[in-house]
Parts: sequence; structure tokens; C-alpha cells
Amino acid sequence: MAKKVPIDFVDERLNQGLAKTGLRFTAQRRHIYNTLLQKRDHPSAEEVFMRAKAEMPELSMATVYNTLDTLVKCGLIRQVTHDRGPTRYCSNLQKHHHFYCNECNGVFDIDVDPETGEPEFHMPPGFTISHWEILFRGVCPECNAKKNGAGSSRS
Ligand SMILES: [Zn+2]
Ligand SMILES: [Zn+2]
Repeated sequence: MAKKVPIDFVDERLNQGLAKTGLRFTAQRRHIYNTLLQKRDHPSAEEVFMRAKAEMPELSMATVYNTLDTLVKCGLIRQVTHDRGPTRYCSNLQKHHHFYCNECNGVFDIDVDPETGEPEFHMPPGFTISHWEILFRGVCPECNAKKNGAGSSRS
């Protein structure tokens, strides 16, 4: 998770994605996509802006919004809606589910076994699934540690 994504990989992915839409490769698009790939903690648009701006001060919020839109259209990232906050962005293209922490509002990736990870749906007639998502809610390890460490010391 903490390992750095090589810039060649960023460029390759971005070029592939943009090719589908006919949009140009730009320094801003590259920088914002790279920002999303380097820290995959499902940031909001505002958080992407703050992180990306640190290294590209001329970046505007409007550019960030437009670029996030473009990246979603290219299929390079996906939107994660969070009922307790702004839309977040996920750059993990592997099939996975999301775990929402009740304590810190963090969003975490839960990988699925490619063999058995696909849930079986018994859909009523007439429904077509374009994509599916399972949502987990609970407490993340960090928040659990805080809770457990605060009072009791267990043996
Ligand atoms: Zn995710
Ligand atoms: Zn948490």
C-alpha cells in the first residue's frame, strides 16, 4: 500500500485511459492521477486538490474537478459515495469492496478472491446489473486500537 507507484506505470495507464476518450495527455492530468495512485485512501476532491497543489501551486480547484471527471470517464478511477461526507475517489482498479469506518469515516479497500469473490445475485426478471458493490460498515484497525488502548490493558 505504501509502495510508490512508478511514474511509467502512471503514464501508461493514463495514456490508455485517455486514448478511449480522445482527450490529450496533460501535465495536470498526469499530476492529479499520480496523486491519486500514490495514496489510495479514497480522498475527496478537496483532499486531492490540497495534495496535488503542494507540488503544482498553479493548480485550481476547477481543474481538479474537471480532471477527476475526466479520469472517471476514462475508467481510471471511480467515485465512492459516502453518506456522511463528500464523494471520494478510488484509484484501485482491481475488483474490491469498500469498508466504511464508523469512527473516523475512513474508506478502506476490501479485496475479493477472484475465484470466489463474485457474489451470486438472484435478480428479479427485467433487471440488468451494470456493476455491483457490497458495502461494509464497522470500525477500522486504527480506531479499534484507539478504543481498546484507551482504557483497559488486556492480557
Ligand atoms: Zn477503493
Ligand atoms: Zn477508523
